[in-house]
Amino acid sequence: MKNVLSAIQPTGDLHIGNYFGAVQNWVRLQENYNCVYGVVDYHSMTMPYKAASLLENTWKMTFQLLACGVKAENMFIQSLVPEHAELTWILSTVTSYGELARMTQFKDKSKQLEDNEGKEAFVGAGLFFYPVLQAADILIYHADYVPVGKDQEQHLELSRNIAQRFNHQFGKEYFRHPEPLYTETPKILSPADPTRKMSKSLGEKHYINLLGDADRVRKQIKSAVTDTGDTPAGQMSAGVQNLFEILRACKHMDAYDSLMADYSAGALKYSALKEGVADALVDLINPMRENYEALLADKRRVRDSIKDSSAAVRQRAQQTLREVRELVGLPAVK
Ligand code: AMP
Repeated sequence: MKNVLSAIQPTGDLHIGNYFGAVQNWVRLQENYNCVYGVVDYHSMTMPYKAASLLENTWKMTFQLLACGVKAENMFIQSLVPEHAELTWILSTVTSYGELARMTQFKDKSKQLEDNEGKEAFVGAGLFFYPVLQAADILIYHADYVPVGKDQEQHLELSRNIAQRFNHQFGKEYFRHPEPLYTETPKILSPADPTRKMSKSLGEKHYINLLGDADRVRKQIKSAVTDTGDTPAGQMSAGVQNLFEILRACKHMDAYDSLMADYSAGALKYSALKEGVADALVDLINPMRENYEALLADKRRVRDSIKDSSAAVRQRAQQTLREVRELVGLPAVK
C-alpha cells in the first residue's frame, strides 16, 4: 500500500467545510492507503496564539477527528514527534531563501499580520520556515501522496524540490517525491456571506460547527443568505448553490433531486430547501456528536491511545533521522 500523509492545524472545533473538504476524505483514504494524519501544533505556533488555547485546541481537534472516524492508530500529534523539528533544520540547508520568499501563503499571512497590527507587525521567522516544516512532515514518513487543496500545491512542489536537492547533494535517491492526491471535494461557502469560503477567521456567523448543537445548526441554516441581489437572471445564486452543495455532500440525494426539480420548475421554496439541508446536517452530525461525547467521557484513555500512536509513529520518524544523519555527516545518536 502507498503511503499517504496529511495534516491539520489544531484550530479548535471542526466546521462542516473542514469535514466535507478534508476530513471525510481522510476517513475514506484509510481503506486503501497506509495513512498517517498529524495534528500539527508546531505549525499553529507560526501565527500569534495563546499557549493554553493551543494545548486545548490540539486535544479538541484530535478528539473531533476520532469522532469523525479517523483511526487512532493513524494519528499523531506533531510535537510528540520532535524529529519533525530536527529534520526541518536539516532540510533548511537545502532550501533557498528565494524559494521561501516566493511562497504565497507567507506573503498572505504576513500581509494579514500587517493589516491587523500595522507596518510594525511582528512577522516571525517561523512563518517563513513553515513550508520547510511541512516538507519535513511529508518526507519524514516517505509519503507517496499528500491529499492537498489548490492552496497547498505550491508547498508540495517545494517539498519535491527539497527532496530532489537533498538526494542530489547527498548522492542517494533517499527521499521519495511526494505527489498530490486530488479528490473531488466540495468547497463550502459561508452561510452569512456566500461569496466567501466558510472559515472561522471570518467570524462566528460564517461557519457551522461540525459537532455543534442541532438547534444552532438549524438556526444557522434558517438564516443562511439565499439572495445576494447581484445574481444574473436565470442563474442560481451562490447562497442557494451552497445549500444544494451541502445537501449533496450529506448524500441526501432524494431531497436533492426533488428540490432541484422544484428549482427547475421555478417552484422552489427556500424554506423547504433550508429544512432539507438542516435535516441532512443534523442526520450527519448526530452520530458523530455521540461518538465525540463518548470519547470525552473516556478522556484519559483516549489521550493515552493518541500518545501511544504518536510514540509508534515516532519510531518511524526516528528511523528516518538515523538514516538522514548518516547521509548528511552527523554522528549517530547513542
Ligand atoms: P484550514 O484550517 O482552513 O486550513 O482547513 C483545514 C482543511 O479543511 C483544509 O484541508 C481545507 O482545504 C479544508 N477546508 C477549510 N475550509 C473549507 C471550506 N469552506 N470548504 C471546503 N474545505 C475547507
